[in-house]
Amino acid sequence: MSRAYNFCAGPAALPQAVLEQAQQEMLDYRGLGLSIMEMSHRDNVFVEIAEQAEKDLRDLMGISDDYAVLFLQGGASSQFAMVPMNLLGDGETADYINTGQWSKKAIKEAGRYGNINVAASSEDTNFSTVPLQESWNLSDNPAYVHYCPNETIGGLEYSFVPQVGDTPLVADMSSTILSRPIDVNQYGLIYAGAQKNIGPAGLTLVVIRKDLLGKAANNVPAMLNYQTHADNDSMYNTPPTFAWYLSGLVFSWLKKQGGVGNMGEINQRKAEKLYHFIDHSGLYSNPVEVISRSRMNVPFVLADDRLDKPFLDQAQAAGLLNLKGHRSVGGMRASIYNAVPEAAVDALIDFMAEFEKKNA
Ligand SMILES: *Cc1c(COP(=O)(O)O)cnc(C)c1O
Repeated sequence: MSRAYNFCAGPAALPQAVLEQAQQEMLDYRGLGLSIMEMSHRDNVFVEIAEQAEKDLRDLMGISDDYAVLFLQGGASSQFAMVPMNLLGDGETADYINTGQWSKKAIKEAGRYGNINVAASSEDTNFSTVPLQESWNLSDNPAYVHYCPNETIGGLEYSFVPQVGDTPLVADMSSTILSRPIDVNQYGLIYAGAQKNIGPAGLTLVVIRKDLLGKAANNVPAMLNYQTHADNDSMYNTPPTFAWYLSGLVFSWLKKQGGVGNMGEINQRKAEKLYHFIDHSGLYSNPVEVISRSRMNVPFVLADDRLDKPFLDQAQAAGLLNLKGHRSVGGMRASIYNAVPEAAVDALIDFMAEFEKKNA
């Protein structure tokens, strides 16, 4: 068996050690005669797995008891609605920053629930920049400020954490969570779909400051109310047990790698060498302002788009998978999350250099 290097934006690569452990435990979990997928979520065996996963995540991210950690379903896209349904009261306004396709979707969805003020946008630069905070037009007293720290499609990442005083800061961290250390205390709410930098699809993580619970209106369905899930340890109904278990294996793997501090250094090195190569080549280019380039998603275009197809075909033949850019922007994109080893980035650079030479 040979595993290729996988640069998929999501569902993305998982650590091989995690897949091997899951394979080993698949048919007969620790001598119990059944798999994780086949046991009750109320079984002590699963409850222990669930609690350990939460504990490891709290350790990795430094999440204090002031926050609830929720293991939900519905993807980050459901959070586009759940956030305003839970945090945006009658007559209140929420501020959003528009830096790309995911911000836009969040803004559009939130608009169905209340007043939304787009306090800043970089659409005029085709989302190649992050608007400086000095230029933001925040409302007087917004219910929260929402932003997307890493725009997965455009490859744009904030180089700063917005400072919004006492206003809750809400972040869609789907493609940047666990990629480096952050100070959770700066946030009111963090959410992330698991399938980029955590685990398999089907699990959505929410980290919410406890004082923000219990604000949803009466007509918000129980399943879409954060309070419901916080009150029931995310087991109000059947949670995505296998995705939760596998994410727990990833958390424990991350701890063995030295945690997010160490991961952050590796990720920085991976991204820097890829951008450095792109910037010094004659064939490839990246449009994003240098300070706001994503460490997780590296889009690039070829000077001649007739070379796109041969590039992708030959990359795949060389064991470099899923380099096609998002359908909305074209070109290429290499997603280099935690589970993508530095050797994969080295192999990609070697391939790109060779391809450029052949097509000069
Ligand atoms: C992938 C992604 C989403 C959508 O996630 P789903 O789980 O598919 O709903 C939202 N925001 C960001 C930043 C993403 O990368």
